[in-house]
Amino acid sequence: MFPVMLSVRGRRCLVVGGGGVALRKVEGLLAEGADVTVVAPVPVPPLEELARQERIELERRPYRSGEGSGYVLVFAATDDREANREISAEAERCGVWANVADDPELCSFHLPARVQRGSLQLAVASNGEAPFATRRLRQLLQRRFGPEWAEWLEAAGRLRSRVRSLGVAQDAQERLYDRFFAATVDGDRLKARVPTGVEIGKWLDEIGIGTAAPETAMVGNQGGGREPGGVRPGLVSLVGAGPGDAGLLTLRGRARLLAADAVVYDRLAETVLPCDLTATTELRCVGKEAGSHPVPQDEINELLVRLAREGKRVVRLKGGDPYVFGRGGEEAEALCAAGVPFEVVPGVTSGIAAPAYAGIPVTARKEAVRVTLLTAHECSKDGGSQVRWELMAQDPHATIVGYMGVTALPNVVRSLVAAGMSGDTPAALIERGTTSAQRTVRATLTELPAEVERAGLGAPALFVIGPTAAHASCLDWFTLRPLYGQRLVLTEASRPLAEQLDLAGAEVVLVPLPLTPASRIVIGALPLTGCLAQTPTELDVLEEERDALGWNNSVRVWCVGEVVSKRARERGWQGVHEVPPHDPIASLVEAVSSERTKSATR
Ligand code: SAH
Repeated sequence: MFPVMLSVRGRRCLVVGGGGVALRKVEGLLAEGADVTVVAPVPVPPLEELARQERIELERRPYRSGEGSGYVLVFAATDDREANREISAEAERCGVWANVADDPELCSFHLPARVQRGSLQLAVASNGEAPFATRRLRQLLQRRFGPEWAEWLEAAGRLRSRVRSLGVAQDAQERLYDRFFAATVDGDRLKARVPTGVEIGKWLDEIGIGTAAPETAMVGNQGGGREPGGVRPGLVSLVGAGPGDAGLLTLRGRARLLAADAVVYDRLAETVLPCDLTATTELRCVGKEAGSHPVPQDEINELLVRLAREGKRVVRLKGGDPYVFGRGGEEAEALCAAGVPFEVVPGVTSGIAAPAYAGIPVTARKEAVRVTLLTAHECSKDGGSQVRWELMAQDPHATIVGYMGVTALPNVVRSLVAAGMSGDTPAALIERGTTSAQRTVRATLTELPAEVERAGLGAPALFVIGPTAAHASCLDWFTLRPLYGQRLVLTEASRPLAEQLDLAGAEVVLVPLPLTPASRIVIGALPLTGCLAQTPTELDVLEEERDALGWNNSVRVWCVGEVVSKRARERGWQGVHEVPPHDPIASLVEAVSSERTKSATR
């Protein structure tokens, strides 16, 4: 079999058969722009629907001898082997390529199983001998090749057309492509990233054409003008980091981070920084924790403008969603006023996600049909309150989610009760929601402030007031997981264990070796409860970082197998726990659970 990629756009293709197999072929062909005719006496409803939308020609009848000749490809997908054989023989006579479902002998071409990432296609074929095997291989590749490969290929295409338009000599082109590939592809892990504008500029410099504008100029469509220095301003992406659980960062947010020259982040967003950010990415923390704003807002705005004017791709990473109480609007306005191109990548706001992790749906039919996102912190304006407490107090079928609310909570409760809200309204306060440090206190409205104080909860936290806060006790899926509260460092070598740990409820920090600056920040963002090592080498690296990571004696070292645990003990690690190689996670879960039971009964 000779592999080719066919352009079927605008070409006539015939599908004989009207079942699920035929439908899948039709959908594949339509996705590539083919002109499709389907012949089937009784087509399945989705085919009827496609015909109604005039996306296919549908002939509701059996195949007629001789009709295959006017097509470039014919697919026989009837359940009648004889009919399939006739269609295939006829196609053969007229020189038309034919594919017969589940009958490799009758095929003059096979369809590979394929993985698509944008324009990148990986095809797996077995000469029709074992489609089940190629399908499984495809699933494997699908897991290994992340969505970032689509953007990577686009970047490769852009680089190629740019280099061609500059008339770069062939050998220099090849050198450049080698640099591109080596810098952006991790062959062992099958990971790819988009290079930053600065990197591309550097590579072009190396081959002597460094005057070209940075790659960033190709992203976004605003602000095409150059700065006086000759550099086009880069792009600022205002990215929502989500509430803290790194899994809740959006795909686009992650792609922008990996492509950034500079990342300007808030403390609340630290847990979400991708550990695989290259060491050359400039990382700048601008604080923003409740009660402390180390870098004033004006300076943050100026910093973003300055970095962009250096031609850099900048990510402004903000906790939750950038436009929900994050002053993202002010930053966008500053960029707009400075003529710097920007975009917004929304994030999962903590006001929705933290309640969900604490067992509180923010709406519920018949209970709460309105949600108010409220800041309890900046609610006064010109001396008076901007908040209409009386309106909220009078609406029992609603949920109030209060941001920046720990200090203001007693006042909020007083105002709501004074305005007529029942003191028995269910309420909760959630600290560090969605992370391993999540803690929740539930009480009635009037009792909440005292309960919060007794439990010692503090910022960052949200309060939730409304009938659905009473759901908390039975919907509390997050803290019921056996590894809830565990924050574990794993190195890339242990990646296959990460998902199991995540499903069991642990917060997993998966770090590359050697540790990148970003992974150090992530590790230090919240207290660790342990690390896991499967090989002595992993252990050695973790050991080098032991002090930098704020290690202490309560941090467990989960060692897979005897060799590693022996080494850990020899090196003087405290808290060494050996888990067996055949099912390390089950043992880890068991050990954590029994420890928890012991401390609960103590
Ligand atoms: N833009 C953010 C909010 C910024 S204001 C968002 O959309 O989530 C900062 C406040 O958000 C904190 O004081 C706290 O009230 C809330 N917050 C952010 N992350 C939180 C978390 N993980 N758990 C609880 N509250 C959180």
